[in-house]
Amino acid sequence: MLISTILRAKGPEVVSIAPDATIASLLTELARHDIGAVVVARQETLIGIVSERDVVRHLHRRGSELLDAPVADIMTADVVTCTTEDTVEEISEHMTRRRFRHVPVTSGGRLVGIVSIGDLVKSRLSGLEDDRARLEAYIHGG
Ligand code: AMP
Repeated sequence: MLISTILRAKGPEVVSIAPDATIASLLTELARHDIGAVVVARQETLIGIVSERDVVRHLHRRGSELLDAPVADIMTADVVTCTTEDTVEEISEHMTRRRFRHVPVTSGGRLVGIVSIGDLVKSRLSGLEDDRARLEAYIHGG
């Protein structure tokens, strides 16, 4: 299955934040949208990604003063992206090997969505369920 199939079902919305926004406002965005990561963009250019895990790690080190620091202090600048033509299997494998749960999706160099490990697991489970139903129909001569 292609990443484009997942995006068709879930839509193109990508929540982004500016690098100089505070970490307190990042937490507001994560809670408001009920998500685990946002992309960091400057004038529509992707320059990083920041997830709840970054906040937890840095909060542990710096304490509550972290809330006034800019998102740029804790984001990951070296963002791994995928394209709409990549397969769900390839991207799941990347996420597992590199230990992250979010991948922004580009098409023709433009950001067109983001997929999470939850989106990929959901689609793989529904693929397995379809296979099971097909096999059952085959066995029972349906
Ligand atoms: P996550 O599992 O998505 O909460 O992220 C775990 C760590 O990987 C955090 O330090 C994130 O900033 C980083 N991260 C998340 N997604 C990506 C990505 N697509 N490319 C590079 N780093 C990422």
